[in-house]
Amino acid sequence: MSRIAALYALQQTDSEIDSRLISISQIEVALADNSAVEVARQVTQEADTAFVAARLALRDLEIASEDTERHAAELEKKLYAGQIKGIKEMGLAQHEIATFRQRRKDLDDQGVEAMIALEEAETTKKAAKAILTEAEAEREKVIITLQEDRVRLEGELLELRTEREKRAKAVVPPDLIIYEKLRGQKQGIAVALLQQGKLCGRCRVELPLTKQREAKNNAVIVYCSSCGRILHFKP
Ligand SMILES: [Zn+2]
Repeated sequence: MSRIAALYALQQTDSEIDSRLISISQIEVALADNSAVEVARQVTQEADTAFVAARLALRDLEIASEDTERHAAELEKKLYAGQIKGIKEMGLAQHEIATFRQRRKDLDDQGVEAMIALEEAETTKKAAKAILTEAEAEREKVIITLQEDRVRLEGELLELRTEREKRAKAVVPPDLIIYEKLRGQKQGIAVALLQQGKLCGRCRVELPLTKQREAKNNAVIVYCSSCGRILHFKP
């Protein structure tokens, strides 16, 4: 294997390692992201609270209606038992009874609305709960898949690192220094393929003829005149 071919082989393994590392970090982010379930849980809690409030509102109206009716009935009883004397007093009592009854009717009308609101709140609560259950089940599945992927990637990484060691040994030490330095400067890609015998495979710039010839020899390190990467020619 030529010097440059050895560098290119190392580059390929390093790129494979880099892509696994990126995938693993993406998995870590996805594993930490429980937002879908959290949003569904929040919505469920709000729906629960609204349901409880609707039930209390209905109960309050029912109690108020019962109280009003009791007052009216008590007054009516007194009136018919002759406990209220005088025309004026009796008239006032009758007026008061009518007011209580009207009040009760209003409360009962509100009670019908409150009952409808309660049914709606219950429907919303059930729907929110169903969405939460589904989100939790989905999340569990996603977590299992992500964990499996991570295990697979870590296994691949282990093999790739062993391979990297071997490939690094096949590179002469001074070239390895140049390679590592370039990799640090060029987003991890130090070696590019010479394509169609004239183009840098990374930046797509066409090289001067002398460089094309030198690169094709694969004997000395030739750098792309545009992006500065080492060029490798595959005959
Ligand atoms: Zn280039």
